[in-house]
Amino acid sequence: MSSKPERLIDEKGLRLDGRKPDELRPIKIEVGVLANADGSAYIEQGKNKILAAVYGPKELHPKHLALPDRMVLRCRYHMAPFSVQERKSPAPSRREIELSKVIREALEPAIFLEYYPRTATDVFIEVLQADGGTRCASITVASLALADAGIPMRDLVAACSVGKVDGTIVLDLMDVEDKVGEADLPLAYMPNLDAITLLQMDGNLTPEEFEKAVSLAIEGCKKIYNMQREALKARYVSVKEVEE
Ligand code: UDP
Repeated sequence: MSSKPERLIDEKGLRLDGRKPDELRPIKIEVGVLANADGSAYIEQGKNKILAAVYGPKELHPKHLALPDRMVLRCRYHMAPFSVQERKSPAPSRREIELSKVIREALEPAIFLEYYPRTATDVFIEVLQADGGTRCASITVASLALADAGIPMRDLVAACSVGKVDGTIVLDLMDVEDKVGEADLPLAYMPNLDAITLLQMDGNLTPEEFEKAVSLAIEGCKKIYNMQREALKARYVSVKEVEE
């Protein structure tokens, strides 16, 4: 594990990786990266590298798990053994089971589940490299993989975390800030609908800090949303050009 740094913000107000408090890590997104999935996407957010693949909607087996009035969304968040500094067991951990549920619940409000009764859609998320904020980056990339699979959606879901380190509210925490900082608040947001689909908090914030943190996270999500849209356009504009 990385050793605990003395301070996370220097005298110029910059973070360990040189970012300002309200700055996101560099983000690279690509949609449609896997030939054999119905939909897929890949994200790099700082040192995070995450792949999402979607299969569905399809018939659900065993049948008794099917719902008469809506599609069942199934989500599996998985960290590769080599994704973190200490080898992670490939077996699902409690944390991965919890994150799979949290990510599913953050995505469900965006999907017209009622359009596909008695079916299931699977979302597989593979974290290839982790550096803090993987649940948020997973939500961002999974919502693009769902869109790439052609699943009707109300909006894209963009997510990022915000927190408090050395007494300062900062956007998009990396691993060391997440571990050493005073608070960590992951948030997922649908910008068109102005609706929050995930809000968690670890640590302590005053009510004023909480309000500042939530608005900073929403601003971060809006920036990520623009990148999501660009990534979708890049995928489908090039498809159109090939067809013409
Ligand atoms: N992490 C790790 N080993 C693990 C699980 C997590 O080193 O078995 C690191 C990883 O970098 C992850 C970070 O701890 O991104 C923070 O994990 P957390 O549970 O807060 O979820 P996240 O911030 O990734 O959504």
